[in-house]
Amino acid sequence: MPSILRNGAKWFLELGVEGSGGTGIFSVSGHVEKPGNYEVPLGIPFKELLEIAGGVREGRKLKAVIPGGSSVPVLPAEMVMDLTMDFDTLRNAKSGLGTGAMIVMDETTCMVNVLRRISRFYFAESCGQCTPCREGTGWLYRVLSRILEGHGRNEDIDMLVDVANKIEGHTICALGDAAAWPVQSFIRNFRHEFEFMVNNAGRSLVDDLESAA
Ligand code: SF4
Repeated sequence: MPSILRNGAKWFLELGVEGSGGTGIFSVSGHVEKPGNYEVPLGIPFKELLEIAGGVREGRKLKAVIPGGSSVPVLPAEMVMDLTMDFDTLRNAKSGLGTGAMIVMDETTCMVNVLRRISRFYFAESCGQCTPCREGTGWLYRVLSRILEGHGRNEDIDMLVDVANKIEGHTICALGDAAAWPVQSFIRNFRHEFEFMVNNAGRSLVDDLESAA
C-alpha cells in the first residue's frame, strides 16, 4: 500500500497487463512443494507462478488446475501450462481468475473423487431458498456418490451436466453457479475418467494406471 501511494496508481497498474492491472494475491494449494499466498503481477505466466510455489510435489506430473477457487472451471495441464494469469486469458480459456485460490492437482488425482468432494461442499452450503440449488446440489452429490460407489449408469454423466445446466443462471445468489461450473468443466475436460468409473464398477482410472505402471 505505501508503495502505491509513493509511486502512484499508474505505476501500480503497469505492473500488470492490459485489462488486469496491478498485482494479485494467489493462494496456491494442493500438490505443490510450497503452498502459500503469493503476490505477483497479474498476467504472470502460469508456469512461473507454479515455479514460485515450488513446482509439483515430488517431481510428479501436473494433471489439472482450478485457477480461482473451487467454483471456478478446472483446466487440464496441457492447457493451463500455456496460459497467463489474468482475467481475459482465463475467461477466453472458459475458466476464470476468481478469488485466486488456486488448486493444483498432480497425476495421482482422481477427478471423479475431487468433483464429489466439491459437490458435497456446495450441497452443504446451499441455504435452500431456491429450488434448483436446494434440490440440484443434492442430486449432483448423490449421483457422483453412486458413480464412486460402483453403481453408476451410462446416462448419469449427461444427467450431471443437465442438472448443472438447470442450476446455472436460475438461482438468486451465486452459489448456484458455483455448484454448476465444476460439474460442467470436470466432465468437459475429464469425461473419460467418469466413463471409466461407470464402466468399471467404481474403479478409478488413476488407480488402474498406477497399478499398470
Ligand atoms: S442459490 Fe443461494 S439463495 Fe439460492 S438456495 Fe442456493 S445458496 Fe440459497
